[in-house]
Amino acid sequence: MRYAILGDIHGNLIAFQAVLNDIKAKGGFDEIWCLGDIVGYGPEPHACIELLRSYNHICVAGNHDLAAIGRIDTFDFNPAAAQACWWTARQLSDEDINYLQRLPDKLTRGDFTMVHGSPRQPVWEYLLSVSDACDNFNYFNARFCLVGHSHVPLIFLQDEDGNCFAAKLPEEIKLSSGCHRLIVNPGGVGQPRDGDPRASYIIYDSEAQIMYHYRVNYDINTTQREMMKHKLPPSLIYRLNYGR
Ligand code: ZN
Repeated sequence: MRYAILGDIHGNLIAFQAVLNDIKAKGGFDEIWCLGDIVGYGPEPHACIELLRSYNHICVAGNHDLAAIGRIDTFDFNPAAAQACWWTARQLSDEDINYLQRLPDKLTRGDFTMVHGSPRQPVWEYLLSVSDACDNFNYFNARFCLVGHSHVPLIFLQDEDGNCFAAKLPEEIKLSSGCHRLIVNPGGVGQPRDGDPRASYIIYDSEAQIMYHYRVNYDINTTQREMMKHKLPPSLIYRLNYGR
């Protein structure tokens, strides 16, 4: 089976479509494993939910998904994120709201646990440091954990002795070798933050036991024009150019 592992679409339909087209060109997929934040920031939240739902998929809830349906407060959001969240809430259909309400905080599939933020705090915690990642290996039982939220493609490894390491996500990860455990972030589709504006995602081939990390260009200008049309905060529009 081939799985498309992706997250943080953030209402960026053009980026999401570019990723799906790229995966199809590389041989397609059987299921999408979505790591949350389908909506928030971007100009087409409804269309992104609809497109995701048109595929065989599973998905966990992100903080922006929950904020858009009023399940968590925007108090902890910065002003631009909060403004985009209130706008997003007004774009959702009843069916979108029902769908987002049913998203679980955590999912497990075979050797994989999936959360938006971290195993310890599925909705809110950003996993960017080795020490935080090291603690978080104690909060899931599976061998591998998939996370989103930071929009930074990263891999954390825990070896047999419990030592932890962090690295930039490589282009290829072989899962079969060794007894190590991994926490993997595929990076963001709709608002990358590692200095590379291209959308980021993973294809996981379960037979070969290999993950492939890809970046794909998308038409950033079209997304930005849509955001301007809806008067979304300028800081959110311009950051897409820089992947920050
Ligand atoms: Zn996000």
